[in-house]
Amino acid sequence: MNFLLDILFPKKCAGCGKFDTYFCKDCICSILQTDLVCPRCEKPAVGGQTHPVCKRRFGLDGLWSLGIYQNPLREAIKQLKYGRVKGLTETLVDILIEYWAKYQPFVLDQIKKDRGAGWAIVAVPLHWWRNNDRGFNQSALIAQLLSKKLGLDYCEALRRIRYTKPQAKLKGYDRHQNIRNAFSLDSRLLPPLASFAFGGTLDSNILLIDDVWTTGSTLRECCYVLKRNGAKKVWALTLAR
Ligand SMILES: [Zn+2]
Ligand SMILES: [Zn+2]
Repeated sequence: MNFLLDILFPKKCAGCGKFDTYFCKDCICSILQTDLVCPRCEKPAVGGQTHPVCKRRFGLDGLWSLGIYQNPLREAIKQLKYGRVKGLTETLVDILIEYWAKYQPFVLDQIKKDRGAGWAIVAVPLHWWRNNDRGFNQSALIAQLLSKKLGLDYCEALRRIRYTKPQAKLKGYDRHQNIRNAFSLDSRLLPPLASFAFGGTLDSNILLIDDVWTTGSTLRECCYVLKRNGAKKVWALTLAR
C-alpha cells in the first residue's frame, strides 16, 4: 500500500519540488525569521513576550512564530491542507522546535524545568472558512505532533460555537468583532484537563497552536476563553506570521 502511494504521490519538497524529502535543507535555510513582537501591540518585544504595559488579565503572554509567511514556508503551509501531509507536518514541527529552542529558549526552558507538568497544548479549532471541505484541521495535527515531541498533554479544549464570516475578507476591528464569542471551552474535555468537567478550572499553562498569525484576532479570542476558564499563562505558537 505504501509502495503504491509512493508511486502515486512521490515524496517531494513542498518548497521547491526536489524529490525524496518533505522539505529540503535549502528551503529550510531560506525560511526568514520574523522579528519577535508583542502579541497585543505587535511592536518588537524581547523574546516575543507581551510588554508589561500591554499585559491584560485575559490576554496572551507571548507569541513565537517560526518564520515570515512567504515562500517556501507559505507554500508548505498551504500544502498542509491537502492529503498525505503527516510527513511534511512532522518535518515542520521538528524545525519549529529546533528554531524555538535556538532563538527563544525562554518558554521551552521553563517547560523543561517543570518537566512538562502544568503545561498543555491546545489547537485553534478548525478554520472551516478556509474552504477546507474535508474538515481537516492542520493546526490540530501540528499541535498533536508538538505535544508528542515535547512530552506535553494535548487537549481539545476549544470548540467553535458560532458561525463566523471568512476572516480573510475582513479588516482589523471587523475581524475582532467577527470572532468575538465564536469559541467556548469544550464541556466534553478529555483528561488531563478533565477537572473542568467537575466544576474545576483549566489550571494549566497553555501553548496555543495555529498555523498562521495574521492579525492575531483568532488567537487572542481563544486565549480569552482559555484564561476566563482558569488557564494561567498562554503562549501563542505558529508556523508563520
Ligand atoms: Zn526545497
Ligand atoms: Zn505591546
